[in-house]
Amino acid sequence: MKTHVRALVIGGGVVGVSTLYHLTKKGWRDVALIERSELTAGSTWHAAGLLPLFNMSYTVGQLHKYSVDLYKRLPEETGQDVSFHVTGNLRLATRKERMDEYWKYCGTANTIGVPFEVITPKRVKELWPLIELGGSADTPAIVGALYHPHDGHIAPADLTMALRKGARNGGAEIYEHTEATAIERTRSGEWQVRTNQGEITAEHLVFATGNYARQTGRLLGLNVPAIPVEHQYIVYDESEELKSYRKAGGRELAVLRESDKSYYLREERMGWILGPYEQGAPARFADGVPDWFGRSLFPGDLDRLVPHVEAATRRVPALEDCGIKDIVNGPISYTPDGTPLIGPAWGVRNVWLNEGHSFGITAAGGAGWQLAEWIVEGEPGIDMLAVDPRRFGAYTSKRYVVKKNEETYRNVFTIHFPDEERPDARPAKTSAVYEKLNAKGAVWGQRYGWERANWFAPPGVERIDDWSFRRTNYFEHVGNEARLMRERVGIIDLTPFTKHEVTGAHAEAWLDGLVANKVPAKIGRMALSHALTRRGGIRSEFTITKIADVHYYVVSAGAGERYDSDYLFKALPGDGSVGLRNITNARGCFVLAGPKSRDVLAKLTDTALDNASFPWLSAQVIEAALAVDVYALRVNFVGALGWELHFPIEYAHSLFDALFDAGKDYGIGMVGMRAMESLRMEKSYRMWGSDLTRDYTPLEASLDRFVRMKKGAFIGKEALEKQLAAGVPNRFVTLEVHGVKDADPLGNEPLFDKGGRMIGRATSGYYGHCLRKSLAIGYAKAEFAEVGTELAIEILGERKQATVLRESPYDPDNLDLRA
Ligand SMILES: Cc1cc2nc3c(=O)[nH]c(=O)nc-3n(C[C@H](O)[C@H](O)[C@H](O)COP(=O)(O)OP(=O)(O)OC[C@H]3O[C@@H](n4cnc5c(N)ncnc54)[C@H](O)[C@@H]3O)c2cc1C
Repeated sequence: MKTHVRALVIGGGVVGVSTLYHLTKKGWRDVALIERSELTAGSTWHAAGLLPLFNMSYTVGQLHKYSVDLYKRLPEETGQDVSFHVTGNLRLATRKERMDEYWKYCGTANTIGVPFEVITPKRVKELWPLIELGGSADTPAIVGALYHPHDGHIAPADLTMALRKGARNGGAEIYEHTEATAIERTRSGEWQVRTNQGEITAEHLVFATGNYARQTGRLLGLNVPAIPVEHQYIVYDESEELKSYRKAGGRELAVLRESDKSYYLREERMGWILGPYEQGAPARFADGVPDWFGRSLFPGDLDRLVPHVEAATRRVPALEDCGIKDIVNGPISYTPDGTPLIGPAWGVRNVWLNEGHSFGITAAGGAGWQLAEWIVEGEPGIDMLAVDPRRFGAYTSKRYVVKKNEETYRNVFTIHFPDEERPDARPAKTSAVYEKLNAKGAVWGQRYGWERANWFAPPGVERIDDWSFRRTNYFEHVGNEARLMRERVGIIDLTPFTKHEVTGAHAEAWLDGLVANKVPAKIGRMALSHALTRRGGIRSEFTITKIADVHYYVVSAGAGERYDSDYLFKALPGDGSVGLRNITNARGCFVLAGPKSRDVLAKLTDTALDNASFPWLSAQVIEAALAVDVYALRVNFVGALGWELHFPIEYAHSLFDALFDAGKDYGIGMVGMRAMESLRMEKSYRMWGSDLTRDYTPLEASLDRFVRMKKGAFIGKEALEKQLAAGVPNRFVTLEVHGVKDADPLGNEPLFDKGGRMIGRATSGYYGHCLRKSLAIGYAKAEFAEVGTELAIEILGERKQATVLRESPYDPDNLDLRA
């Protein structure tokens, strides 16, 4: 065994081997993989081998597409067959809402370039002659289906062996029966891994240990939120009907998914494999995989399978006379949102995770591709936020992960509504005024473990969400909240904001090198600033306020706490000249906004609030009611006169009550996240994570006014210079969508020119309640971004006319903000 390598992958399942393969493809030959047992000994050997291209996520969809393309070319490259059966993939719908889901997906698929067809029941029967189209209570009628002609299933072990061959051809070494048992950092900053076969030191470590992710994480003190859940499938004996069909010249049937009954079915040696996602499947190994488990399986649990077997047999009667040959029940790694953890580990340098894969056979190719890109180039090639391990935070306690993973597992096939909020493991993190908001009718959602009020049900209105891809029960109430903010005064509780304090003599210079905007030099000034990747994409958005001498207050998205904090801490100079503290939980934040907000705040403070004394885009440390040391920032994300009040958390209750008392005469009320979405859309305010990602530079995002090319060096500047010289390819657009009846854009809809050519994508959308317009924001090729350009946008399968509007269609001159 080598004693030193550039990168060491721990774990020889399909994901680890794919990472190794892709590292060699990036030109790193000095790489190795260790596997505690034999390659594929984890979950890989018993996977069913399905490769569904279907995925609602723009990022994961791209990873899956890459995998499927790669697996088709691997046999030729490596000489190793992978048994890729390109059978196609058929997802049935028996409900209108399910078709909406498929149509929503089609928007994403179009933007990624995944071929699909939406087909009729008649076409389903042609493709799948052994199916019952249904029409009874037990077996509802198929109303349509989504068909992917180019995917199918593969032999996971063969795939792993092909990747192994490719990796070895590229110079990689693989050591089986070699288990990582301890890891230490060397003085030079490398990683020394102790194994049962000796020690090996590596510059970079990749954890790809599947069900062992928590154990491996613990070697470095990381609490990795991946815990496996039991997952089973049934292998049937040969089917006479299937044999007759095939003998008569029928082609191998597409992998079938009856989503509304939560199972998949595929052919296997003239018989079938039936795999359900059952209710009640338990999480396993929350405290680690016991030594004895190895290649083992769990005993089959027929009771859990029965409802799915019955449903499948009604849909495909050919199953009826088939005996059951085997039940495979194995651990399948899960994360709280069902999406893998691909990217840097937090708090440690040069440690990378490729863990938490529940569709690991499908994702392995893409996950290895992008992780290798990230390790070798320092950046992934596509936006990876949706899979970045740092999208979770310290809140992922064992019990939280267990509950969420079980919930995610049993919901694999439920309809993924855009406004869905799942109930398990809640409430976890609550703002101090949670109960007060509850009393005001809050209908809660959860993000980054935090409870956030999505909207407020007025007295007499039921506090439920009727989830939908279309306008639904809360539409009117959200509209009322948005109007309250524009016409009177409202409060939004944004306590979850990520908050950092940066201090020290070099604080300004350090921050200035991280972001594209000029960091404010004067006390009381603030700057919206973007930290870029070296490729010029947007990685983070910070509002940087100079609170006092050598003291900056840095605010960013609540869901980005670990992501931003990790970035900032890793970027610190090593000489101690900059102090950095994550003070997220030390301060709460109420947004007080609307034309009457000044009158309300004036009742609580002696600080002069007139424009001359407290202009837009400035900040002061004030007293408000009984609260001291309140950072009052005259900015907000809704585009109204107002202040963000960032207060020491112990004042949450008294300040909240005082604001409501003071606002009584002005009709003050609470405003939720959904109204904020509507309001920010009317102002073309871009949201980090959806509108601002590393896929686009700030120039493409038309944020030129926040980019200071003439200041000194900052990360990403060279890439922007190149882009400016070559011409900025895309531009940010705000669109009014015409002819919308009940389905507004929500993001990930493709944009077309008049000739029907795809020229961009919407990244967000919502109904602008005050403008009474359906709005979308996103990116179009630069030549289509002129105000007045007529485009088309595809919403739930329908093309709608859309016009490019002047940015900020509500109050374009910011008169409200400056009032
Ligand atoms: C019943 C079932 C059916 C499935 N069907 C499908 C499917 O149809 N399609 C699909 O895409 N996915 C499917 N999956 C999921 C798929 O099996 C996994 O997502 C995939 O195998 C994960 O691969 P991996 O490389 O991440 O993990 P694993 O295959 O589990 O590999 C991890 C490896 O790390 C090794 N290891 C752990 N700790 C150490 C250490 N300290 N030192 C050295 N080595 C270590 C382990 O021995 C193991 O070999 C299925 C899963 C199950 C349970």
